[in-house]
Amino acid sequence: MVQAQMQRATEVLQHQYGYDAFREGQSRIIEHVFSQKDALVVMPTGGGKSLCYQIPAVVLEGITLVVSPLISLMKDQVDAVRALGIAATYINSSLSRQEVYARFTAMMSGEYQMVYVAPERLHDPQFQAILQKKPLSLIAIDEAHCLSQWGHDFRPSYLAMAEWIKHHPHRPTVLALTATATPEVANDICDRLGIPVDNQYCTGFARENLTFKVVKGARKQTYIRQYVEARQSQAGIVYVSTRKEAEALYQFLSKYTRATLYHGGLSEDARRAHQEAFIYDQADVMIATNAFGMGIDKANVRYVLHANMPGTIEAYYQEAGRAGRDGEPSECVLLFQPQDVQTQRFFIEQRDTEDEQKKAHDFDKLQVMSRFCHTEQCLSQFMRSYFGEEDAPTCGRCSNCVREGEQVERTTEAQMVLSCIVRMKERFGKTVVAQVLTGSRNQKILTMNLHKLPTYGLMKDYGAKDVQAFIDFLAAEEYVGLTNDAYPTLRILPRGAAVLKKEETVFQYVDKAPAPV
Ligand code: ADP
Repeated sequence: MVQAQMQRATEVLQHQYGYDAFREGQSRIIEHVFSQKDALVVMPTGGGKSLCYQIPAVVLEGITLVVSPLISLMKDQVDAVRALGIAATYINSSLSRQEVYARFTAMMSGEYQMVYVAPERLHDPQFQAILQKKPLSLIAIDEAHCLSQWGHDFRPSYLAMAEWIKHHPHRPTVLALTATATPEVANDICDRLGIPVDNQYCTGFARENLTFKVVKGARKQTYIRQYVEARQSQAGIVYVSTRKEAEALYQFLSKYTRATLYHGGLSEDARRAHQEAFIYDQADVMIATNAFGMGIDKANVRYVLHANMPGTIEAYYQEAGRAGRDGEPSECVLLFQPQDVQTQRFFIEQRDTEDEQKKAHDFDKLQVMSRFCHTEQCLSQFMRSYFGEEDAPTCGRCSNCVREGEQVERTTEAQMVLSCIVRMKERFGKTVVAQVLTGSRNQKILTMNLHKLPTYGLMKDYGAKDVQAFIDFLAAEEYVGLTNDAYPTLRILPRGAAVLKKEETVFQYVDKAPAPV
């Protein structure tokens, strides 16, 4: 039976889609679905997740329900599959009551192979009644990381949907899909949906055509202007962290390039128009907050430039991953400023939750993101190991792999910082430690008698900012750790203890010449 279904699946792939063969992972996942086993698919953006449920939807009897949070894109998604000859529709809040009713009726008479809905629809009693009478063959849950509190885009509506699916009397096969999930998030998704944890298909997180770069200390506006000017008529996305910044950068860049703008404060019409301008190449640069991008299928994005550091590696990987869906070489640049960490910390603090465990978890994630910006490890390898890929190779392309700087020994400076942290009983954060080391006469230092410490002024020949940046480096390389709260304090990690005991030497790359911008 499964074999015959696979054969039919290959025919659909070749005749309806016009592709030669399934990609790595796709056929295994589809076969799994035909065996009526649930699965969680973790596959990078552009990997080909959609086919994993679209093709079974054509082959299987009955309806495949596709759950997606992206109401604004459902019409486009449905138009695309209809163009391939698949009987698909969507039912969401953008339709009138009559339209919804008409689609319910058509569903009852078996006219659809696929129905796209938002998670909330599963709570509609009328819809539930239809599902009682017309059992589903498959539920595909797109953007499944929205199910996990430990993910970066948790949506309560997803959780309620999962409960419904778990207790549904005619529970169909469930296929959950996401591009970004740490092992913790993946296990949580499985748990919520009742998918056996062994049924996870992770095709890896490598994106061979992407080159990652972290740039520190650049003058932001000048850098971005020069960057986009050097890439006239190439499509790119510039992400900023606030609406205000998006507006300001849009005003500025519009003088030099064909830019457009997207953030949550714009009207729905404006957002749609701007998104289309970008998708259909009427604008080259999309300046956006993180409200933009989920589900946008624009293949030829040549670069994604982050003007600010996002709050988590997942968010960064997902946003940066919108570059190069067509497999062509593309670049992902992250401009880092120390204030970005403050901004993200503020976002976590402001979040409307009393859940202290969740906050601590988010602070932890922020620290990993900050470590990414300061590490000297291969950036691709860093991210892949974060997502649980052991032994990922170095990429040979990222800004850490191709550094032109030279390695300088920093063991003495590291010992100064580490012994100062010890003297301060691991009770202070980066700023105060740097102030003590540089011999600041700050009132707080004097009131707390910190100027009497033997390590006070030990690095007085350095600037406080330089010492802070050096501490960031020590944190990135895990010589020191930070507590996971709003005011993180520094503590010595085993690697740092080894440096204090003179068992380990510290090397840091120093750029030969600073970038001209
Ligand atoms: P994802 O949802 O994982 O980001 P998509 O399903 O949108 O990825 O697929 C990305 C691109 O790859 C699409 O343009 C899709 O048509 C193409 N694609 C997917 N599977 C195959 C295949 N087996 N052969 C050729 N192209 C494919």
